Amino acid sequence: MNTKNIQDEENKVWDVVIIGGGPAGMMTAGRAGERGRSVLVLEKNSIFGKKLLLTGGGRCNITNNKTNVREMVERYKTDGKFLYSTFMQHGVTDSVIFFTSKGIALKEENEGRLFPVSNSATTVRDALVTYMEQSKVKVRTNCTVTAITKDQKNGLFYISLLNTKKICAKKCVVASGGVSHPETGSTGECFTWLSLLGHEVQKNDCALVPISLKDTWVKKIAGLTLPDCKVTLYCDGKKQCVQSGKVLFTHVGLSGPLVLNMSKTIGLLLTQGTVTLKLDLLPTHEIGALRKAFRTLLTQESNKKIKNVLGIFIPTGMVGPLLEISGVDGETPNHSLHTCDRAKIVTHMKGFTCTVASLLGADKAIISSGGIIPTEVNFKTMESRLVPGLYLVGDVLNIDRPSGGYSLQLCWSTGFVAGSHV
Ligand SMILES: Cc1cc2nc3c(=O)[nH]c(=O)nc-3n(C[C@H](O)[C@H](O)[C@H](O)COP(=O)(O)OP(=O)(O)OC[C@H]3O[C@@H](n4cnc5c(N)ncnc54)[C@H](O)[C@@H]3O)c2cc1C
Repeated sequence: MNTKNIQDEENKVWDVVIIGGGPAGMMTAGRAGERGRSVLVLEKNSIFGKKLLLTGGGRCNITNNKTNVREMVERYKTDGKFLYSTFMQHGVTDSVIFFTSKGIALKEENEGRLFPVSNSATTVRDALVTYMEQSKVKVRTNCTVTAITKDQKNGLFYISLLNTKKICAKKCVVASGGVSHPETGSTGECFTWLSLLGHEVQKNDCALVPISLKDTWVKKIAGLTLPDCKVTLYCDGKKQCVQSGKVLFTHVGLSGPLVLNMSKTIGLLLTQGTVTLKLDLLPTHEIGALRKAFRTLLTQESNKKIKNVLGIFIPTGMVGPLLEISGVDGETPNHSLHTCDRAKIVTHMKGFTCTVASLLGADKAIISSGGIIPTEVNFKTMESRLVPGLYLVGDVLNIDRPSGGYSLQLCWSTGFVAGSHV
């Protein structure tokens, strides 16, 4: 950008300045711009939507196909009550229409997850950048905001930047994200400014975070996925809860939607005792029927080694760890397998035990918990209840949510609503 443009930006009073060019900031900006507001977006990275590009493993799980607003808000647990008016103004159907109209065709995958047909988060990011351009939004990248203040006399916001002059705005939108994956730019400094402006900030922590296991066998099966696994969570041997879904083995432990959604509970339980997970590798098989089927297989394939037949029941990658935790030598011919070893193998197929070491850190978390408490925001407009003219969108809000497209939907809905009211 040339010096003249910078000076023009600095001498002007903008209708709206948006801090953060992630999904929430871009949606807010495009919407405010198309309503004729003069809008400037300030983004510290050299590109927009750095975290957005990581979403859904680079494929972007853009939302979840729950078109009924009541059903959708229930997924945000007790915080859902705040979101009703926001989602009524812009819900899942509106987001689907929005992205389709921008050339992003969507497809549905498991549990209602919607992805772009392109399988590319870049196409989603680019569509939002184009939306901002078409809405005549001005943008400044490589631009780090260091503080926001509000002049109580003239009601204007002054936004301080690293190395350049302040920017002045009638309305200010904070869309600078939470604290997960800080390398994408979401480093949480906004929470200091917001608390100086009078907001209560719930302490930030990781949420939807993978776990590491004490079991060393996990390294050998990194990348393996169990698409339909039933997981029972225990603390000091006491059963806590049971959930089913997709589990992914990583180099250090477990991830995937099911584990991410359980991570908050696991984190709490880790402060109380030893946390173990039992993975039912064959949830559709009743244990009695499995015992019988296994016995039949061993008889039919009596001259083969046990390690070479278990793949009929479970993913072949799991065979080694299963034999290891069952204490059975894989070279054993089926005809020589002891009854007690046969029983152990079946027991572990139905309850493969893993011991949790810890939750991974913020650099691996999908979202952070914490942020601005929802009672301090008017969700009909996304305006702060404490600081008129200040708007809060996306991950800066302390809204509990599961994995499955619900975080980005929060960005689309809060962004659209803020952009409609600034
Ligand atoms: C690995 C991973 C995968 C995910 N997958 C999914 C998924 O498939 N579906 C889903 O719904 N959600 C997913 N999420 C969550 C989703 O990415 C976030 O909820 C979403 O990006 C939040 O958007 P945001 O605009 O509020 O914040 P962010 O995306 O964090 O954007 C905030 C922006 O503000 C900028 N910024 C911060 N501070 C300043 C400053 N001081 N000055 C200027 N700019 C600043 C940052 O550089 C950043 O660009 C995933 C998250 C991760 C980490």
